Amino acid sequence: MAGRHGHERRDVAIGGAGFAGLALAIALREALGESFRVTVADPALKNEKSRDPRASAIAAAARRLFEAIGVWDEVASEAQPILDMVVTDSKLDDAVRPTFLTFGGEVEPGEPFAHMVENRHLVDALVKKAKALGIDLRATAVETFSYGRGIDVRLADGAEISARLLVGADGARSAIRETAGIATHGWSYDQSAIVTTVAHERDHEGRAEEHFLPAGPFAILPLTGKRASIVWTENAKEAERLVALPDEEFHAELEKRFGLHLGDIEVVGARRAFPLGLYTARSFIAERLALIGDAAHVIHPIAGQGLNMGLRDVAALAEAVTDAARLGLDIGAPDVLERYQRWRRFDTMTMGVATDVLNRLFSNKSDTLRLVRDLGLGVVERVPALKRVFIREAAGFTGEVPKLLKGEAL
Ligand SMILES: Cc1cc2nc3c(=O)[nH]c(=O)nc-3n(C[C@H](O)[C@H](O)[C@H](O)COP(=O)(O)OP(=O)(O)OC[C@H]3O[C@@H](n4cnc5c(N)ncnc54)[C@H](O)[C@@H]3O)c2cc1C
Repeated sequence: MAGRHGHERRDVAIGGAGFAGLALAIALREALGESFRVTVADPALKNEKSRDPRASAIAAAARRLFEAIGVWDEVASEAQPILDMVVTDSKLDDAVRPTFLTFGGEVEPGEPFAHMVENRHLVDALVKKAKALGIDLRATAVETFSYGRGIDVRLADGAEISARLLVGADGARSAIRETAGIATHGWSYDQSAIVTTVAHERDHEGRAEEHFLPAGPFAILPLTGKRASIVWTENAKEAERLVALPDEEFHAELEKRFGLHLGDIEVVGARRAFPLGLYTARSFIAERLALIGDAAHVIHPIAGQGLNMGLRDVAALAEAVTDAARLGLDIGAPDVLERYQRWRRFDTMTMGVATDVLNRLFSNKSDTLRLVRDLGLGVVERVPALKRVFIREAAGFTGEVPKLLKGEAL
């Protein structure tokens, strides 16, 4: 439908078709029906299939959201439950890595606290669902926006959309955030995470492993079949060098860290280094604009929580917008956006600080700090109630949980 000066009229325009943007579009369409018009724009929609080499730990609360929006069934056969988790703290050349912490993985009987799913399966499933629902998907970028009666969004293909709300879901280097003049605070860690997928001889039995090595955490995360996703933290320069090594040398470096407890290993996926940092937008909202996912906050992947936090944004914003729309109110009004921001900001700050402290405590060679952290892990290991708190936190069930994360419809 064309509006003023040939602008297409929409209720919500979303820049970014990653997890956050697509999940929000689907949640809104399902809650508010076809007459609620949503457009999602992202140049990556040109690709037939996602090429993301990463896999994500999907916490139980995030899985309930995917169930509630009808996407989980599509990826369930590719989802590996995390049944058990071990944490070790050692130097690279230690002959044995003593286990300091173990977690049995259930948040409720029969419900693992997290599943590992490859990102490409999840994004492809979200795109498929959005298409099935008839959501307007544009394979182009959000170029800029200005204000008229609502918010006027110009896409890179020349299309002009007049919306009541623009959502920036365009990732860590959000151009929408920048155009809105919203600064971020935070820092780069001068660390990168090398990501790849390996096949191994023996079954992992659903066990996730986090080895705290001096350069940073080295995680072995179970995937379906006898495969694992590796998230291997190194100093940024060293990570670049390692990723560029010939196959045999890369394999030797990997094996040094992985060990042989699962038998022989073979690299079966692409390898890529992701620079790491901690950034939070100074505000998650501006006039007729909301930021979600990595556009609003980026954290260290040490606890596998970045995407899960983005999905908490999705659930909170979808609920705030749906409640306003059902009352016939303006969905882009300041009080609606304030409600979203209040809901999300404290939780985001807490998680940012927690992952930062963990990373600083574990990514170093100090023997004193090693003693302190091992004592800490030892205490958590011996106090079941403390472990339960950590499991519920990792599963995403703390704080004021929005409906979608409880698996409820909006
Ligand atoms: C190594 C690593 C491991 C991780 N592991 C985990 C984990 O186990 N669990 C977890 O919860 N999180 C994890 N994370 C974090 C998680 O991957 C991110 O938080 C998540 O991908 C962010 O999703 P998003 O939708 O906000 O942004 P993105 O996935 O970055 O998507 C942004 C989209 O916006 C598009 N875009 C950019 N500019 C524009 C524009 N101008 N207009 C339109 N579109 C635009 C891009 O093409 C992209 O498709 C990990 C991160 C890293 C680096």
